[in-house]
Order: sequence, then structure tokens, then C-alpha cells
Amino acid sequence: MPGSDLVALQVSFNTEGTEAAEKSGCVRVFSMNKLGIYIQVPFCQTKCTYCNFHTGVVSAGRFAPYVEAVCREIRGYKESYEAAGVTLPEGFEKAVVDTVYFGGGTPSLLEPGLLQRMMDAIRETFENELCEVTLEADPETVDAEKATAWVRAGINRVSFGVQSFSDKELVASGRMHRRADIYRAAGILRGTGIRNISFDLIAGLPHQTRESWKESLEGLRKLEPEHVSVYLLEVDEGSRLGLEILQNGKRYSAGAVPADDEMAEFYETACAFLGELGYHHYEISNWAMPGLESRHNLKYWRREAYLGFGAGAHSFSGTRRWANAHDAAEYVAAITAGRSPAEQLEAVTRESALEEELFLGLRQLDGIDLKRIEREYGVSLAERFEGLESAGLVKRDGEIMRLAPAKLSVSNAVFVELMR
Ligand code: SF4
Repeated sequence: MPGSDLVALQVSFNTEGTEAAEKSGCVRVFSMNKLGIYIQVPFCQTKCTYCNFHTGVVSAGRFAPYVEAVCREIRGYKESYEAAGVTLPEGFEKAVVDTVYFGGGTPSLLEPGLLQRMMDAIRETFENELCEVTLEADPETVDAEKATAWVRAGINRVSFGVQSFSDKELVASGRMHRRADIYRAAGILRGTGIRNISFDLIAGLPHQTRESWKESLEGLRKLEPEHVSVYLLEVDEGSRLGLEILQNGKRYSAGAVPADDEMAEFYETACAFLGELGYHHYEISNWAMPGLESRHNLKYWRREAYLGFGAGAHSFSGTRRWANAHDAAEYVAAITAGRSPAEQLEAVTRESALEEELFLGLRQLDGIDLKRIEREYGVSLAERFEGLESAGLVKRDGEIMRLAPAKLSVSNAVFVELMR
């Protein structure tokens, strides 16, 4: 392991199942015997105007070769990492996969048989005790036959890209579904026995008003998803709408996007509304009925290990982060030629690990355990938080530091300040 900074972050997998993390000197031994697997499916039916993801609209004929490549990557992951110079921590191969997440893109576009093949590849390659297998789905892609096949493949959680219950907002954002599709799809999933459904909403879509936002929240009340994510519209050059807002264009309804303070108000309304309905707010953008927090996504925020397969998928072993080639065609070509698609290898230094702990810790409503971090990283955090605390942006409760409840909607500003 090159670089002295990495000594503090050596990771090995404790496969005994104990929760206790041993610490000897400055070497932290994680007890991450559970592993998450993320599969990226970068295909969509159309490109939503606000979308800044690396996804493409391609012919359905490209789905099967892509899935074939993903299966090959899963089955040959050790050789592939070795070829790319990724060294996995000792004991990693004994880790048990307990969560799988099919994200995108729109993985629900795939024939269920293709999803089944990827699940087979995971089951054949890794020790597994799958307790949470999530499929991202767009409401208009759901039918009873598919949903039944998803359950047969082992999918037990569906994350819906609902975004809004207002047809006007959905049309303006370039979404393919309408309000009626959300109700139809949720009914189908319940009928097939899927008991864990998540809905995504976006605060800040064009034409969104206080009233239409309330309507979307009421939609949640009626359909009772077990999990809800609320995101603020991201404005950057990566999406057509973002670019238009930055350049004052007119084609994608940039002029109808709510102002920043309205978006913050929508977010705060959602916090209050979801709290009243009994949801547990556990991460800035995420709420769940108690006990149904996303086990897979918690791994990201808790810096636990996960492997990503597919174009652009990210992985984290505890000591390294890396990502696959973004372009789907390039990814398939690499796998077909027997080359590793992994690139952007980054060794996690002590300093970057500490920054991740602070950034990811504050995203979680449980906050940061200051004493643990000070002990593990040999740092003092008091000075780092002084300015934020006196500005009322974070709040200390004994040894726990959290974002101040009223400042959740301006968390990005807090993170920028913290990383200075
Ligand atoms: S469906 Fe999702 S991933 Fe696809 S274009 Fe729309 S927002 Fe982006």
C-alpha cells in the first residue's frame, strides 16, 4: 500500500460477524463483512430536461449485450481489479453481499430476464444473504407481468422516479409518465407483494407552486410509500434545463423554475409534512418508515464497502475508490476485449477520509460522533466547527455534531464552509 497517509486507513474485513471494530495504534480495522453491489443501467426512454446523469437513449437491441458485459464483469471482478491495479483489502472475498441496487438510467426498461441474469451472476459469484434488492423504476414502465418477474428475480424494493404528481410539471420536465401512471404502477406493485416502495420528488421543477407541491405531498399521503426522497433541483451545465437557467434561455421553461427561497420553502414543508406522517428523517434528502431506511444507501453515507458494475459505476473498498468508464459503448468494448473498465483510481488518504466522514456524517440526521473521529484520525475538530457553530449552521449536542434543523435546506453552503 503506497503512501504513509494510507496507514491510518488500512482496512481488513472482519468475517466473524462481530460489530466491534478493533483498533490497534492508528490502524482501523473495519467490521464490514457486509457488502453492497450497485449495478448501473445507463439507458432511458428519453432525456428529462433537468437530468445531469450520464445516461443515453439507445435502441433496445443494445440492452442484452450491455447486460452480458455486466455479467462478465461481475464474474471476473477479481481478475479485472487486479489488471486495473485495484488491491482489495484482506478478507474482502469472504464478504457477504446483503444489498443490491439497480440504478440508472431506467433499469425497469430492461426485460426482466436480463435483470434475472445479473442477479444470477451476483448469486453465483458472491456469498450472499440478500435482504434488500432495489430496482429503480419509472412509473410508465411498470406492468403486472414485469412486476411479477421482478419479484421472482428477488427484487423486493422499488424506487420510483415520481418527481411530481402535477402533469404540468411532468410535461415541462420531459418526463414520460403522468400522475395517473403513478397510481396505476403503485397498485400493480402492491398487488405483486412488493412491500417496500420509495418515491422520489424534486423540489424546483418548472411551474411548481406552493399549491402543486402540496398536491405532490398529498399524493404521498394517499399512496403511503415506505420511503421518500426529496431532492432540490440541481442547476448546472450538465442538464439542458440547468444550462438554460445559467444562460437565460427559454426553450425548457427555465423562466418557470421557482426561486431558490421557494425551493427551500418546499423542502421545509416536506420536512414538516413527512414528520407528521410518521416518517423518520434520516438523511438530508431521505425519509423512511422506521426500520425501512435504505440499507444500501446507508452504506454510502457510512463509508462501508460497495462494488459498482456497469458503465460509470463507482466502487469503494475502504481504502480505494474507483469508477468504470462512463460511456456504455466504451464499457462494453473494454469488457469484450478482456480489458478492465475501471479507471479514476483514487487511494483514500487520511485527509480525504476525514473530509468524507465530516461531509457524509453531517448529511445524516444522526450527526457526527466527534469523539470517535478525533480518536480515529488523531485530530481536534473544535476549531473546524467553531465558525459554523457560532453562525448557527451546526448544533452540538454533547459529543454529537449535527446540521442545525433549520439549516438543512442550505446544507451545501455548510459543506463548502466546512471543507475550506
Ligand atoms: S429517467 Fe432519470 S436518469 Fe433518465 S433522463 Fe430522466 S432523470 Fe435522467
